[in-house]
Amino acid sequence: MAHIYLASPHMSEEGYEQQYVKEAFDTNWIAPLGKNVNEFEKELAAYVGAKDAAALSSGSAALHLALKAAGVKSGDIVFCQDLTFSATANPIAYEKAIPVFIDSDYETWNMSPEALERAFEKYPDVKAVMPVHLYGLPANMDRIMEICKKHGVPVIEDAAESLGTLYHGQYTGTFGDYGAFSFNGNKIITTSGGGMLVCNLPEEQAKERIAKVRFWATQAREKARHYEHKEIGYNYRMSNIVAGIGRGQMKVLDQRIEQKRHIFAYYQEHLGDLEGLSFMPLHENERANCWLSVIQLTPDCKVCPLDVMVALEQGDIESRPVWKPMHMQPVFADCDYIDNGKVGESLFENGVCLPSDTKMTDEDLKRICTIIRGLWK
Ligand SMILES: *Cc1c(COP(=O)(O)O)cnc(C)c1O
Repeated sequence: MAHIYLASPHMSEEGYEQQYVKEAFDTNWIAPLGKNVNEFEKELAAYVGAKDAAALSSGSAALHLALKAAGVKSGDIVFCQDLTFSATANPIAYEKAIPVFIDSDYETWNMSPEALERAFEKYPDVKAVMPVHLYGLPANMDRIMEICKKHGVPVIEDAAESLGTLYHGQYTGTFGDYGAFSFNGNKIITTSGGGMLVCNLPEEQAKERIAKVRFWATQAREKARHYEHKEIGYNYRMSNIVAGIGRGQMKVLDQRIEQKRHIFAYYQEHLGDLEGLSFMPLHENERANCWLSVIQLTPDCKVCPLDVMVALEQGDIESRPVWKPMHMQPVFADCDYIDNGKVGESLFENGVCLPSDTKMTDEDLKRICTIIRGLWK
């Protein structure tokens, strides 16, 4: 039987990606930049409804330049969601700023507005706030934006996992001042590797900030015939080949969201009766992209997360633990953490990310569910 991946690249059956890449070859716009980059930026901005977008080499690069665009400097405090991938927090360290980690809540699995309010009391001088939309589940953006607007602090949404997620009819990544997307190999659409930063400030300001981001991303070259530099730059721009893959993938994004949601619904239907097993929270007025389907097992459940992962592994099937919170990571051991009852720790200890590859058939899903159900027998 074939190996089942957690989430692997899924190119369009129609070959759209190759058409755009071929066009780049035919016109010799291999690099740098070119039509695919410009169009990919426009297409993604139009899809999510953002004012402007910059195509970059990764989601991490997008988060890094968002912090710079938001004016975060050495020694500044940044509130960062605690339960996330390290790529959310690392750029804070690149800028020598100081992360303070904010615990999640059970309703959203993302940044707790209550913990965020307590963090503002402790650190009124904070310079930016970074909520995440983990596994494609939207954070409580109504409350988070309300709190951050009250304090006049910019919000950078890490939407790396949530492209296409709707929260109250609006796409994640477009609530905060900035939103970062990733096209890494395991994300809902992929360019092999890449990212996009969108800006949601008033139009003129957004254009200006995104222009600045593109400038930093191309080594901060001043407009001069010779090479003139007044600022430190980065080699963070997306290539025209990579952007061609992205344009092709945009055409199947809605299809991928449907497939991811089908996978989640299948698990709900076929595992929902198992004692001590529950699913990640979906709510009314939201459409999560369900990038990964994640379950929780109660601490007294007869089956533990490791049992599930080992049993699947023996069937040549990939699964994964939930992200390990940042405050538990040795590299961030010295950082402050605003606790909300250790929600992140509990989600980490009791969670399993089930295979969520859009290339899976219902037969594959059946094979997975049979193995998992076997553990309860
Ligand atoms: C994937 C991911 C990133 C980083 O994106 P890259 O394109 O891999 O740099 C950032 N944050 C989260 C939550 C992610 O899952």
